[in-house]
Amino acid sequence: MSDQSAKTLFFGGEWRSASDGATREIRSPDDGSLVAVVSEATELDVASAIASARASFDAGEFPSWGWAKRSALVARIADLLERDAEKFALLESGDTGKRLIEARYDIADVVSVFRYYAGLGLTEHERVVQIGDDHIDSRIISEPVGVCALIGPWNYPLLQASWKVAPALIAGCSFILKPSELTPSTAIALVHLFEEAGVPKGVANLILGAGAVVGTPLTSDSRVDLVSFTGGLETGKRIMGVCAQTVKKVALELGGKNPNIIFADADLDAAIDNAVTAVFLHSGQVCSAGTRLLVERSIHDRVVNQIVARAKMIRLGGPDDLEAETGPLISKAHLEKVATYVEKAVAEGATLLTGGKRSTLDGLRDGWYFEPTVLDNCNTKMSCVQDESFGPVLTIEVFDTESEAISLGNDTIYGLAGAVWTKDVAKAKRVAGALRHGTIWINDFGPYKAQAEWGGFKASGIGRELGPSGLHEYLEIKHVWTNTSPARSGWFADSLNSQVEEKG
Ligand code: NAD
Repeated sequence: MSDQSAKTLFFGGEWRSASDGATREIRSPDDGSLVAVVSEATELDVASAIASARASFDAGEFPSWGWAKRSALVARIADLLERDAEKFALLESGDTGKRLIEARYDIADVVSVFRYYAGLGLTEHERVVQIGDDHIDSRIISEPVGVCALIGPWNYPLLQASWKVAPALIAGCSFILKPSELTPSTAIALVHLFEEAGVPKGVANLILGAGAVVGTPLTSDSRVDLVSFTGGLETGKRIMGVCAQTVKKVALELGGKNPNIIFADADLDAAIDNAVTAVFLHSGQVCSAGTRLLVERSIHDRVVNQIVARAKMIRLGGPDDLEAETGPLISKAHLEKVATYVEKAVAEGATLLTGGKRSTLDGLRDGWYFEPTVLDNCNTKMSCVQDESFGPVLTIEVFDTESEAISLGNDTIYGLAGAVWTKDVAKAKRVAGALRHGTIWINDFGPYKAQAEWGGFKASGIGRELGPSGLHEYLEIKHVWTNTSPARSGWFADSLNSQVEEKG
């Protein structure tokens, strides 16, 4: 256990305890053991953190450092993260319960996000508008948006934070980072690393605590210019409502209910294998998980039988279990939510083919393990098809035609990601073009890159992270018009000047 109880909030360039001394225990989802004790912020701490960020932005040097200097800083952070990668991976798997090998992949991805934005900072950020007049310089420039509240989820804690803090630093913003109360350890370590890298005092601030307590003070404060949030739909709606009161900019990365469409002419071996990974990786606690399998009727039995057989073989286990293939759910409350979701699906008419309950196999200690679950005979009227379970639960629907596959794939309020499997390239492109989701994979499932935008259509969010658009979220655009040969506008009659002219 890392004893971080003393001081784990960071603002004004100093590590602090909560103003009322409150702390929170972080417990392993694998066995309930104590992982860390951290400070639990109060509203007063939130106000102080915002004041710290505001002061550094309004009166500090960071916004005027210039792109190259900020890029060098972000590259330095990438180097330090690489140096400490194993420490970060251990912290991440400790909080989330995910296998150490997965946490190592996450940290490698975090490094690549910092490296990508360090490079993007060195590209051109000004645009000259061609006016056709030698006396006019019309220039579009990008400035930091200001003070940002960066609020993250528990499934990929450091990775989701990196998608926000790396572009915010490149842009020259100051920020208050608020990780999930369930998984704060890597955010604490990251801010220590910011200090080492030389992030100026007040630019990076850290608040820990329950969204219900610190969330509204953070998102309602008029001193905050932007809220970037990754989390659930209902929280996102609440945050958007609060932000409307001060007309803040808001970027939302919300849930998904992602269709994975398999046509009969697909490479079925690859499609089935990827379908299993798409839904059961990280026990389904992935926003882009392929939780809806849409399968062409003629291959339904073959595909479903193989997926069920594979699901039954999946080996569950904790961070240090080298045989394990996936880990526990994050908490007891989440496990109960997933179990209720399956019960409701069955009550609505879905057929439970495997799983559906907590796994208590020997060797699973006392963790929040849930059996990989497959529900057949599902349709879009069922809540299991429409709602995100965020657990290892696959729903299966059948289709007969290409247009039916498309309309089923779009029959969701969400629009985060989807996949289509077929050897017919033209059909794949037609389906990809018609699906209303932010990422479409053709004959693949899951890859994302720091260079490529990520985000949702419809209720899956507003704005984009990663890629150049992920930086644009943190920039204000300003048009500066310079006239080197000023002249009278001549628009209104000028009696004063005409009198002068008459007298003359
Ligand atoms: P959540 O909405 O419960 O919490 C997310 C964060 O919001 C936490 O830090 C929480 O403390 C905070 N929060 C809660 N109430 C708040 C309030 N009123 N004001 C401000 N902040 C508040 O989500 P979660 O359970 O941590 O994460 C799971 C969800 O995240 C899933 O729905 C998943 O799809 C989504 N997610 C989306 C993406 C994406 O890229 N679109 C990535 C990861 C996770």
